Amino acid sequence: MTIATYNSKPSASSSLPHTPSGDDTCTHPRVIGEYCDGCGQHVGPDYGLDFGYLLKGLRLSPDEAARLSEMETRRLSKHKKLVLVLDIDHTLVHSVASKYLNPEEKAFLLENGGSLNDCLFTQQSMGLSVKLRPFARTFLKEVSAMFEMYLYTRGERRYSLHVAKLLDPEATYFRDRVISREDGPAGFKTLDMVLGHRNSVLIVDDTESVWPKDKENLILIERYDYFAKKSSPTSHRYCENGTDESELDGGLAKVLRVVKAVHEMYFESITVSRRNVIFMLGLLRSSILEGCTLYYGNADHKVNRVCLMAKEMGAKCSMERNSSTVTHLVSFEDDAEDITWALQEKKFLVNPRWIAAAYCSWKRQPEEDFPIEKTLYNLFDGIEKCH
Ligand SMILES: [Zn+2]
Repeated sequence: MTIATYNSKPSASSSLPHTPSGDDTCTHPRVIGEYCDGCGQHVGPDYGLDFGYLLKGLRLSPDEAARLSEMETRRLSKHKKLVLVLDIDHTLVHSVASKYLNPEEKAFLLENGGSLNDCLFTQQSMGLSVKLRPFARTFLKEVSAMFEMYLYTRGERRYSLHVAKLLDPEATYFRDRVISREDGPAGFKTLDMVLGHRNSVLIVDDTESVWPKDKENLILIERYDYFAKKSSPTSHRYCENGTDESELDGGLAKVLRVVKAVHEMYFESITVSRRNVIFMLGLLRSSILEGCTLYYGNADHKVNRVCLMAKEMGAKCSMERNSSTVTHLVSFEDDAEDITWALQEKKFLVNPRWIAAAYCSWKRQPEEDFPIEKTLYNLFDGIEKCH
């Protein structure tokens, strides 16, 4: 049985009145509309895992979902494909209710909207303005050769299907694989909703905290804000400034390089047991800050997550101001004693965003771009919410 089975209409048997068959041995692998598709028994609304995005009312037992995930991974593997789960908002697009556009943005869109036709959309009936992230179309085209793609958002279904159509007008990339707020558990995202073995699934999202169980599969992408409304404090506010993220060195171009590398490593592994995207992401990440030893000064607990990120990227963390080993002072605070020491010892001085930026860029960043200053803690957006 493949996913295609679930994409089809309910079988004739499932549309008949449900009559329990009296089969006590049935494990209820597949449930449609609260009734087991095998034995007809009523199992209730919360049974198993919700796959209603593939077929209305479909729920699978965890064993059945795992079995289908294995099958799906094997099927895709024959086509040299893995699974890629893409977040929508601030990853592939930035959307705002049109009523929240500020006067500068309205003026810019009035004057230049025509030249942005292919990536800027105003949906009158939903009162929405949607801007595709630069490079989005190229990104989707390139990854579609290597990955089976899902869209996964905490936005409503009506909205996610609308954006799916803008990104994929011919419905060749996502088809039914669009997971919305109505489909999943409230408050977080999970790969339990995705058919594919965890070892072969990558996630791209700008928010880490929504993936409490699946962080190891996540490629964190720099958040994309085009409009001022709902943007982060560090936002470039591209629209009102008449600019945009770099096409060739923006978030999606950086992520494309990583997913290509993981895909290549995965299928070059001769030993099938070593085919694991989690292992490969870890390997790629572990050399980014190799050779760096970081001292965090008096930074408080809020840097815990960036400290872990630095370790994942191969940096060492020092609890002491050790002149012979420490290479960087990392701090939000302009602590005079630490700074004097670092300057005397010719150490790099950076704020913790240097670590977050390297983590999203998969590349050590120029230290001089991240001077120590009293920066807002909420610059970490989705990251700091882990604590
Ligand atoms: Zn059953």
